[in-house]
Amino acid sequence: MSAYQGDFLKEVEARVEEGEWVKMCMQCGVCAGSCPFGPHWEHSPQKIFMMIRAGKREEVLTSDAMWMCTSCYNCVVRCPRKLPITQIMHGLATYAHRLGLAPKMQPTRRFSVTFWSNLTRTGRVNELKLVLQVYFRNGFAAGLKEFWNMRRVGLRLLAAKRMNPFELVFPHRCKDAKGIQRMLAKACEIENRKRGFSQ
Ligand code: SF4
Ligand code: SF4
Repeated sequence: MSAYQGDFLKEVEARVEEGEWVKMCMQCGVCAGSCPFGPHWEHSPQKIFMMIRAGKREEVLTSDAMWMCTSCYNCVVRCPRKLPITQIMHGLATYAHRLGLAPKMQPTRRFSVTFWSNLTRTGRVNELKLVLQVYFRNGFAAGLKEFWNMRRVGLRLLAAKRMNPFELVFPHRCKDAKGIQRMLAKACEIENRKRGFSQ
């Protein structure tokens, strides 16, 4: 059982995006009932918000629930208290990641980290490279197997011109990748200052 930490709500309010809304939750359960993940995840938003108020810091920050949110906004449009639930869930995921507490092998977390480094390096996501980085992360043989399993989806993406096989050799470059990097660095600096993080 994880230790009770009475000031966890205050920590969430100060350090998590939109965290100041958590105390407004009245535990009606509408978000849990509206979420397409309802029966599939251990911690619905309702449960996560209750755990925050109960001071269950470790249990919340190591949960993989926040990483499973698909941003469908079903919960947001139905919440009677108008909580920005989706943003809070993503804010909690980011916070847990920054503290090094997010589950390391969680597939969405790994995808997010790969996506971010792919995007920030050149200012533009190289979709083919991203797919290869994601599928081959567990080695060549496992990558080939996953690639084969997903071949139909890949062929449809190619047919719809959503993926360009020449991107790997001749990648489209952002005209001002350095400018994008400076902009992202500035945004991170502002967010860090606001949330009290050192750079
Ligand atoms: S719908 Fe809103 S008020 Fe109801 S449990 Fe979910 S977050 Fe709380
Ligand atoms: S936005 Fe996330 S938490 Fe809300 S209903 Fe959709 S998947 Fe569930």
